[in-house]
Amino acid sequence: MDVERKMNNSSFEWAVIGAGPAGIAAIGKLIEKGVNAENITWIDPEFKVGDFGTRWQKVSSNTRVGLFLKFFEACEAFQYDPATSDFAIQQLAPEKTCLLDVAAEPLRWITENLKNKVHAIRGKAQQLKLSNRQWEILLANKTVYAKNVILATGAEPKSLLFPSVEEIHLATALDPDKLAASCSETDVIAVFGSSHSAMLILRTLLEKCQVKKVINFYLSPLRYAVYFDDWILFDDTGLKGMAADWARININGKLPTKLERIIAHEENIRLTLPLCDKAIYAVGFQKRLIPVEGMHSLEYNDRSGIIAPGLFGLGIAFPEAKIDRYGTLEYRVGLWKFMEYLNHVMPIWLKYGA
Ligand SMILES: Cc1cc2nc3c(=O)[nH]c(=O)nc-3n(C[C@H](O)[C@H](O)[C@H](O)COP(=O)(O)OP(=O)(O)OC[C@H]3O[C@@H](n4cnc5c(N)ncnc54)[C@H](O)[C@@H]3O)c2cc1C
Repeated sequence: MDVERKMNNSSFEWAVIGAGPAGIAAIGKLIEKGVNAENITWIDPEFKVGDFGTRWQKVSSNTRVGLFLKFFEACEAFQYDPATSDFAIQQLAPEKTCLLDVAAEPLRWITENLKNKVHAIRGKAQQLKLSNRQWEILLANKTVYAKNVILATGAEPKSLLFPSVEEIHLATALDPDKLAASCSETDVIAVFGSSHSAMLILRTLLEKCQVKKVINFYLSPLRYAVYFDDWILFDDTGLKGMAADWARININGKLPTKLERIIAHEENIRLTLPLCDKAIYAVGFQKRLIPVEGMHSLEYNDRSGIIAPGLFGLGIAFPEAKIDRYGTLEYRVGLWKFMEYLNHVMPIWLKYGA
């Protein structure tokens, strides 16, 4: 059987499922750690840099250009050379932020380089099963086997699903042109949340869209990231960049006339939501699930990324938990954070096979 699998080129040391930024980082680090690229399979339906490259292009980044550049240069296998690269991001000041599409451009190029090294399979993993100390990965038209699997499958925006209001999906709301096309001047729009995404959406609604009113339902005071020489307070939950600049002036400063802010208590929602025509939920993300035989949920260790022997999680679906020096627990999401996390979990993963 093993011989047959090898002949069909369907048996591997490692499988990485998902080709967003986390999957890209995982492939780069595996090769850097000496895993033969021919022994790695990489599975994704599109290979277009995941949600980062397809859904959030028009979003203004919360990290600085310099950190994106650091990510591109972090692995030799990426073949990214700043001296010869002519991507637009290379011309920007490292301390500035940028549109995520500007950061996605080099990632698309890196993806092509990595696809040429490993065994790339276009498709969707439908189920995982451990047998004979190998993971069976079921795709629509074939089964692939791997001793170790990294799930980098991303996450979907959460929805509060209030039935009385029409939902504008987060991906639509984070694209200014699409959001403008989804609203009319008689609309009262509810925006839930007070994150980076929520602030960018409020700004677009108030400055670019014709709407009657915007009601922002929130749970807690705004939180801002604060930069120190060697660390950032509220690095993962604080507002940064353009969202922080706008919020300081318009939320903590003077509320725009069309904006009302209401604490999202049950009673407030019951009384105020019926006044709204449409709702946008910027309230976090939930991991995409792949059924794994014998497991009823995909619980993971949020310090080591271990899900099961030979099965590991990375990226926005399985973020690292980290306590900062003032005791605040934050879940670390962002390109450079995925890379830093891999630096200390990869040695464990290389030894924790099935
Ligand atoms: C509004 C917003 C702003 C952000 N700003 C920044 C920023 O400034 N800087 C920063 O570093 N990060 C930022 N992020 C975070 C970053 O974009 C996300 O964390 C990143 O997209 C997550 O990468 P990922 O690889 O975990 O998931 P994704 O990008 O979602 O990729 C997952 C991939 O897995 C594939 N997949 C899913 N299921 C399967 C399956 N069963 N089989 C095969 N493939 C599968 C998907 O098709 C997709 O291609 C931002 C995020 C948002 C939402």
